[in-house]
Amino acid sequence: MIFLTATKAYQPNNVIIALGKTATQKDNPGRIQIDNEYFILPPQDIYHSCDPNAYIDWKTMELKAKRNISSGITITYHYGTSEDDYSMAAFACNCGSTNCVRYFRGCKYLTKKQRNKIKHLLSPFLQNKYFGKRSTWFVYILLCQDASLYTGISNNPQVRFREHLRGKGGAYTRSHKPIKILYLENVGSKSEALKREMEIKRWPREKKINALHLSL
Ligand SMILES: [Zn+2]
Repeated sequence: MIFLTATKAYQPNNVIIALGKTATQKDNPGRIQIDNEYFILPPQDIYHSCDPNAYIDWKTMELKAKRNISSGITITYHYGTSEDDYSMAAFACNCGSTNCVRYFRGCKYLTKKQRNKIKHLLSPFLQNKYFGKRSTWFVYILLCQDASLYTGISNNPQVRFREHLRGKGGAYTRSHKPIKILYLENVGSKSEALKREMEIKRWPREKKINALHLSL
């Protein structure tokens, strides 16, 4: 395999090559991961280093110099900035850097400390996966006109409430007009919210009122 080598000198942030957008299979060892399902094939194989001299600019999809590179030097980037799970092609790294991960299997196998070191170079997909804003989902309870309680989840309860008012929030609130949001609980992720919603929905009305201190 011939890896990308500098044919001239580069200064920091100089473009080395455009990576293009050629889609390829997950099991192609030369590919670069863009997201969970999407991989591209760069025009040339690029070597890994845990202390690389180049990085991927994810906005322009170009490989750029991280520091001064002289002609003849092998170009490297940190595979951990693109590959989340490289286990099928995992390899022992001998880059010799003090930051060396030793055995590279993908971003998900890096320690928090190792991942923090390359945080600013991670692909948008990995940025979001490991450093994305914690999504804030809520379980909400609506008081309806017939004094019944309706439990639902949303990441934007005010908007969701207005949908319910317009009859766009499902069959129940179409026939039982909501009056107000009675209760909001911030539970973090969507899956946590679904779990909590199921739990609350199973409770009898009295338990909801007592356990959640609802004032009707
Ligand atoms: Zn290494």
